[in-house]
Amino acid sequence: MTNHSIQQRLEDTAPLFSIEFFPPKSEKSAEQLLRTAETLRAYSPDFASITYGAGGSTRSRTLKYARSLSEDYGYNVMPHLTCVGHSRDELKGIISEFKEAGLSQIMALRGDPPKGETNFTPHPDGLSYANELVSLIDEVYPECVLGVAGYPEKHPEAQSLELDLLNLRRKVDAGADFVTTQLFFDNRKYFAFVDNCIRAGIAVPVLPGLMSIASRDQAIRFCEMCGTSIPAELDALLLAAGDDKEAVEAVGIEWSYMQARELLEKGAPGIHLYIMNRAEPAIALMDKLQAAGFYK
Ligand SMILES: Cc1cc2nc3c(=O)[nH]c(=O)nc-3n(C[C@H](O)[C@H](O)[C@H](O)COP(=O)(O)OP(=O)(O)OC[C@H]3O[C@@H](n4cnc5c(N)ncnc54)[C@H](O)[C@@H]3O)c2cc1C
Repeated sequence: MTNHSIQQRLEDTAPLFSIEFFPPKSEKSAEQLLRTAETLRAYSPDFASITYGAGGSTRSRTLKYARSLSEDYGYNVMPHLTCVGHSRDELKGIISEFKEAGLSQIMALRGDPPKGETNFTPHPDGLSYANELVSLIDEVYPECVLGVAGYPEKHPEAQSLELDLLNLRRKVDAGADFVTTQLFFDNRKYFAFVDNCIRAGIAVPVLPGLMSIASRDQAIRFCEMCGTSIPAELDALLLAAGDDKEAVEAVGIEWSYMQARELLEKGAPGIHLYIMNRAEPAIALMDKLQAAGFYK
């Protein structure tokens, strides 16, 4: 397993490879996560991130699986943390727990409103935006490497891409070390976003986030939630694959391969895979990228 710091790896010429897990709720899905973690070790991911659920509901599970991925599987783990439902003091406590567990990087997020709520309402003693969380982590745990979220197609609540970029700049100015993007299927959106970041004075690496589609309905649902577009060409391929699950997966893998190739050829610092705790699409993609010489 690679143990260089994320920062160092983002600056290397060899591209970084990272994956995102979510904390499982049932025993069955826990087994799947651990199986996937075991399998993907063979590809030496530079880091594995693990998400943080709405309303602090996964506080203990995020920490539990972050520890397990680190201690039992040797991953360089980056837990996510959101402001949802937490006071400043609670957040400080969680940051200290991450520190005590030896987790040396955190993805700092505002988070989405809990299920059933449409607007984000900060805790009365809490934080309103991710830039405030970046500042808080920097205060409690200054040596921690910090990732933040970026939106090539704009955050759904932002009035414009320009304002969203100004807000991204606030996170970087507060101390974020790199940006991981929301998933996207059109590389032109990523390249335009990176150019706009540079123009907005955002001088940290922007790691592209990719997801291999396993179901058209699921992809449409995700994309509606996060404001990502599905290119007409991709949608036509998914429609042509119809109900044939394997054919849909093959389209998803081929599309993410095409995206990853172009991103890496044109200088992206690596790829971050939203794997939904599944190993197969990541294996198929990494095998192709290794065969094409992008990864060893
Ligand atoms: C890589 C990645 C990982 C994610 N992981 C998780 C996770 O683990 N758990 C989870 O619940 N969600 C996760 N999300 C989803 C994320 O929480 C949502 O997109 C959320 O709505 C915004 O979070 P943020 O950190 O980008 O917020 P912010 O950066 O705070 O932005 C939220 C909105 O407010 C605006 N804004 C930001 N700062 C200011 C300011 N100072 N003043 C005025 N306006 C401002 C922005 O333009 C944006 O519209 C993830 C998203 C990404 C891309």
